[in-house]
Amino acid sequence: MTDYKFSVLERFLKYVQIDTTADPESTCFPSSEKQKDLSRVLVQELLEIGIQDAIMDEYGYVYATIDSTIENDSVPVICFCSHLDTAPDCSGTNVKPIVHEKFNGAPIVLPDDPTQVITIQEHPYLKNKIGDDIVTASGLTLLGADDKAGVAIIMDFARFLMMHPEIKHGKIRILFTPDEEVGRGVEHLDIEKLGADFGYTLDGGVLGSIEDESFSADAVKLTIHGKSAHPGYAKNKMINAIKVASEIVDALPKNEWSPETTEKREGFVHPTSVIGGLEATTLNFIVRDHITLNLLKHEERLLAIVKEIVLKYEGVTFDFEVVEQYRNMKEVLTKVPFVTEYAVQAMRKIGLETKATIIRGGTDGSKLSFMGLPCPNIFTGEMAIHSKHEYVSVQDMEKAVQTMIELVQIWGEHTKN
Ligand SMILES: [Zn+2]
Repeated sequence: MTDYKFSVLERFLKYVQIDTTADPESTCFPSSEKQKDLSRVLVQELLEIGIQDAIMDEYGYVYATIDSTIENDSVPVICFCSHLDTAPDCSGTNVKPIVHEKFNGAPIVLPDDPTQVITIQEHPYLKNKIGDDIVTASGLTLLGADDKAGVAIIMDFARFLMMHPEIKHGKIRILFTPDEEVGRGVEHLDIEKLGADFGYTLDGGVLGSIEDESFSADAVKLTIHGKSAHPGYAKNKMINAIKVASEIVDALPKNEWSPETTEKREGFVHPTSVIGGLEATTLNFIVRDHITLNLLKHEERLLAIVKEIVLKYEGVTFDFEVVEQYRNMKEVLTKVPFVTEYAVQAMRKIGLETKATIIRGGTDGSKLSFMGLPCPNIFTGEMAIHSKHEYVSVQDMEKAVQTMIELVQIWGEHTKN
């Protein structure tokens, strides 16, 4: 790859300046129309590099094909996927990216809000990035490396393959999705139209990491029905649903079983909102564990706590509704271990140390895997995501492009059966 000139940085700087913040309150799709602004740019750029079938559909999804360069091939069709939107937790409007060339380890003060300082102490990964070019935002917004790093990596990879038809690979499908950050990334995805056998999301962090295991996730909606009465004449009549709900929250363990007290493979139950009043109060919970069967145990434990408290109040009733959200992609990927293995081989080929890491969350890949597209997650270098300290190493992004170029050649040596 001596002639290789990356365009990943220029692309990245362009994409992060296009506001694509998702809107968790919206019921439209995409949740914010502005996400399509980036979709349109990407389609235009894909057409410019010679990918003739690049399109954006009515929902903002971008689909494109890089044709096989192997004659009569029976190589599996591989999809690469990144999400267009950015997290609503932090502003994504007027992002001003700054490139800190040859990072020297000193604290990075963000100029538009000098109280925002990125340090090695707070972000130990940066210690390995001395000498790299680091991109940050300017202090008032997130950067949007999650997941525009992934988008830029896939775009640069596509450009490279289109310029090098001598590289042998099978058919490749490119997919950009809206609304991953609000959990709706595959809501209107046409998996038939996508027509891929295996996939990878480019949405991971640390250089050399490959994630093939996510949480399994349920939501619980608990509604407490109290007994209302006029507050002036409520003696021995009223039972306030807000108070019963509060008692339930207070009865949750303080030292375990919560996001703030767990790590690694520990699951948790987490109240996310309280809505209601005297007569009825709803508590929404999320339930997370890497082992799907454990979700049931967590839900039974929660139910036992609820029952114990509610039973103290005569006439109070409750509804306990469990909704499945997503499942650990490992359940699918374990049947096709070569999907992850090939990515590991590709990373080793370019001299990376690889790390299998687990995701304490879900990705589009969790859902895609169960829709028939086994889909682990490859690193992009995006770090401190969803915050004003978000940063990415340009060299990490370039390594991801190289990984993909190796990866499609490894796939090119394998046939479908
Ligand atoms: Zn992401």
